[in-house]
Amino acid sequence: MKMTRLFFKTMRETPSDAEIISHQLMLRAGLIRKEASGIYSYMPLGFRVLRKIEGIIREEMDAIGVQELLMPALLPAESYRESGRWDTFGDEMFRLKDRNQRDFCLGPTHEEIFTGTVRDYARSYRDLPLNLYQIQTKYRDEIRPRFGVMRSREFLMKDAYSFDRDQEGLDASYEAMYQAYRRIFDRLGLEYVVIDADSGTMGGTGSQEFTVRSEAGESEIVQCPDCGYAASSEKAQCIAKSKAESEAVDRLQPEAVSTPNARTIAEVTGFLGCRETDLAKTILYRADRAIVAAMVRGDREINEAKLMSFLGCSSLEMADEESVKSITGAEVGFAGPVGLPVRIIADLELGRGQSLIVGANRTGFHLKHVVPQRDFRAEYADIRMIARGDPCPRCGTALEFGRGIEVGHIFKLGTRYSESLGCSYLDESGSEHPMVMGCYGIGINRTMAAIIEQNHDENGILWPMSIAPWQVIIVPVNVLDEKQASTAEHFYQELKKHNVEVLLDDRNERAGVKFKDADLIGIPIRINVGRKVAEGLVEFRLRYEDNASTLPVEDAVAAVLETIKKHGGS
Ligand SMILES: [Zn+2]
Repeated sequence: MKMTRLFFKTMRETPSDAEIISHQLMLRAGLIRKEASGIYSYMPLGFRVLRKIEGIIREEMDAIGVQELLMPALLPAESYRESGRWDTFGDEMFRLKDRNQRDFCLGPTHEEIFTGTVRDYARSYRDLPLNLYQIQTKYRDEIRPRFGVMRSREFLMKDAYSFDRDQEGLDASYEAMYQAYRRIFDRLGLEYVVIDADSGTMGGTGSQEFTVRSEAGESEIVQCPDCGYAASSEKAQCIAKSKAESEAVDRLQPEAVSTPNARTIAEVTGFLGCRETDLAKTILYRADRAIVAAMVRGDREINEAKLMSFLGCSSLEMADEESVKSITGAEVGFAGPVGLPVRIIADLELGRGQSLIVGANRTGFHLKHVVPQRDFRAEYADIRMIARGDPCPRCGTALEFGRGIEVGHIFKLGTRYSESLGCSYLDESGSEHPMVMGCYGIGINRTMAAIIEQNHDENGILWPMSIAPWQVIIVPVNVLDEKQASTAEHFYQELKKHNVEVLLDDRNERAGVKFKDADLIGIPIRINVGRKVAEGLVEFRLRYEDNASTLPVEDAVAAVLETIKKHGGS
């Protein structure tokens, strides 16, 4: 491609609304164009990269026998009603009606459609296992689209679904997918961790996320430097240090202390002159329809996802003021476990053998010397957020905190969808069973952004060879110089003959402008054809390295081919 013909435009200035590097560079390098909040067009340069990422994904899916198909993005409501998600998806689902007032949505995810399709086609154990995927646009009406294509309202996803006759079959399909994902992200040149997305299950493989380490990531991750345990901070398992049983705490009985206007942890510790760790906070929630109380130590945060999974409820929100008042008999801020007439779930750290300060269920008062399991009964579970200083749940080493971008997610669905949508098969003896399913996603646009987050410098993007929009750029320093122009053109034609993806910057621009653009758009190999061409020499430069070398013109093609091969291009 000659750059005088290329539809592109780079920007010198950093757009003010782009907060993270990948978003800034995608806009500056002219890869994308914003159409509306969370909605982007891909310009030819960006689209080439996107297509290459898709190409690598396709190769690896095909290699493990997953078949590609294409479902519509515009979907009728019926199957989402059957699975129950028409109601539970909420405002994130883009909904619309056709001219006959029938309900449709723009697919946020396609479990229902795949399940329904397989239900209608595969009836026998002989049809299984079955693995299908598509690369399709998804729609989610995000409350806060941000970080460019990282969290957008329209995005490309590779989603695959496996259908097996039993758990063993699912385990095998899942493992094959896991290995394929590793190859995909390795080929994309990403540094990533695979984290358990299942709370509490030690080394569980029910659900795992492929997370690219990056400070721009939206998810906080914890990692153990010793044993390799990794989890999102939401899901990381917290273990309670065991406490020495102390008889001393049993000698004192609960005692009400006046704490007027002290409702928050900071106010209570300030007022009583105690530490946050001496306190337990009690928070009332509405879990589905029931009110429950959750307790964590004063310096901890409740992890609502863990609490929900412990309760097995489908909705969880803080109880409203009226409910708090009627159950505790006090203003908000004074709830405590003693005498509380609801189910109490306490974090593992609040076990026996300690004396706590808690709300007194009486406005303006707290209780001290409250001993768990003596003065109140609770169910115990890990319901808190992991915190700095916490030990690894596997080996006890202090965990390290970092941030990451979730680019892939593999998930053992089991029979959740096959049961609700009636997707079953007949076994050898003719009896019917629900198929056992897995689902496997990769966010393609987000993967592209993650690659930029990990591969850039102050001058622009450093594309890995495997997905660079073009592998080589030839820059005649002065296009008006006959010798430079003709050598560059000759060289360009030669490389094309060798199937090298090559750009020729034939624009009549200053050399500085062309070099800046080449660096910004991140082409891995640059050949500068300048004054030395009179002596039969050109300059060879790798985007990943600072120094350039000078080569005889006749050696340049071989040098390019060798470099592409060495850096994993094809
Ligand atoms: Zn560990």
